[in-house]
Amino acid sequence: MSVAYDYDLFVIGAGSGGVRLARMSAGMGVKVAIAEDRYMGGTCVNVGCVPKKLFVYASELPEQVENSAGFGWRFDQPPVFDWAHLRDQKNREIERLNGIYQNLLQGPGVDVINGRARFVDQHTVEVAGKSVTAERIVIATGSWPFVPDFPGNEHAITSNEIFYLDDLPDSATVLGGGYIAVEFAGILAGLGVDTTLVYRGDLFLRGFDQEIREFARQEITKKGVKLRFNDNVVAMHQAGEGYTLEMESGDTLDTGLLLCATGRRPHTHDLGIELSGVELNERGEVKVDVNFQTNISNIYALGDVTGGMQLTPVALAEAMYLKEYLYGQSKPAPVDYQNIPTAVFCQPNIGTVGLSEEQAREQGHELDVYVSEFRALKHTLSGSDERTLMKMIVDANDQRVLGVHMVGHEAGEILQGIAVAIKAGAKKTDFDATIGIHPTSAEEFVTMRTSRK
Ligand code: NDP
Repeated sequence: MSVAYDYDLFVIGAGSGGVRLARMSAGMGVKVAIAEDRYMGGTCVNVGCVPKKLFVYASELPEQVENSAGFGWRFDQPPVFDWAHLRDQKNREIERLNGIYQNLLQGPGVDVINGRARFVDQHTVEVAGKSVTAERIVIATGSWPFVPDFPGNEHAITSNEIFYLDDLPDSATVLGGGYIAVEFAGILAGLGVDTTLVYRGDLFLRGFDQEIREFARQEITKKGVKLRFNDNVVAMHQAGEGYTLEMESGDTLDTGLLLCATGRRPHTHDLGIELSGVELNERGEVKVDVNFQTNISNIYALGDVTGGMQLTPVALAEAMYLKEYLYGQSKPAPVDYQNIPTAVFCQPNIGTVGLSEEQAREQGHELDVYVSEFRALKHTLSGSDERTLMKMIVDANDQRVLGVHMVGHEAGEILQGIAVAIKAGAKKTDFDATIGIHPTSAEEFVTMRTSRK
């Protein structure tokens, strides 16, 4: 006799992956509920990708005003920045998106439950004071900022808080050398804040191509961000309106705020996970197989909570796969984690797809490496000393393009198209046979002719 459940599918967490899975499954006639205790759309929409990009736009505008003088424009009044206006405009846009997410779910008939869902057993959760059963349950609770343990760390903020500051301080320190640290150092500096980035290693953006990291250091320094490598924060004290940071080097730094951008951990706290029987790995991530199934056969997990690349498009791809795997006519091809393009939205952007030169050599490829470094046409008049770097890593034996990297204006936009070519297995000869779009920076990718080994 089959058991009757309240729902076919219960999704915990209405972030990028959870919403996509819930609404696509409901669209196929599956009876779905989703529980969310914070905000519709999760990190990406509320305290991640979307508001971050809006802040990036805001931070780039003063430089554009400066650059415009070379093109004959005069703005006679000194520009004034109104942080509260930007923050509130951003909040309004995020609220609009929250509404869109709500509609996207309700349209195909997903029951949206506002509240924290906690497992009671492998088929039951308790949420908003009710016990709800489901044939399948999916954990899509994302990740949460990690703050290192040091005295006074309760004064530090994370990417959760920076989007809602009452006031923007005159100075700020960003701790970390990954995506969030590098992006927020650029945002804060662009908005006129005296910004220092502190990173514990020799050079930030570990894992990126070495030459790209070095070039990014040069360009980010030009934008006024102070870089302090091989150092760390060991204590933080309140001092007047701001804070004093005690550094590992023995120095002290006075700062208006400390943003810890020191990684994100799987968000499995207070889920009653122990009652579900679901196993976590040593990093606290939910262990799943290629079908996103946990050790409990009716419980699945996807997105940041499973570890791997913490990127919205990856969670979306996982959700699409799982929807098809659970409810589709035929079994889908597994999610392909090779050649995932990403961008760091610093100034100028870093865009990347495929292997770095170091990774390609480690894997034993003999390489032709093409590099082009130049001042973009716009800056011949703007007066800006910003430079662009483009790099292509090619297997010398079969001419397959293994990696493409760029530091330059709109590198994120440019690399998305290049990523399609790489995914399709493009060879250097395919790039060479492609006619450029003139005059652009991107055309450089089809005109590189001189390689180094
Ligand atoms: P990352 O993992 O990218 O970087 C964390 C940084 O913090 C590293 O530089 C790490 O140093 C440093 N760190 C870790 N622990 C400590 C510590 N105890 N003391 C000092 N430094 C420490 O995490 P982020 O927080 O920047 O971002 C989280 C994820 O979100 C990213 O990995 C990315 O997947 C995603 N993201 C993507 C964006 C995009 O696509 N544009 C934008 C923002 C976030 P070390 O290198 O030495 O380990």
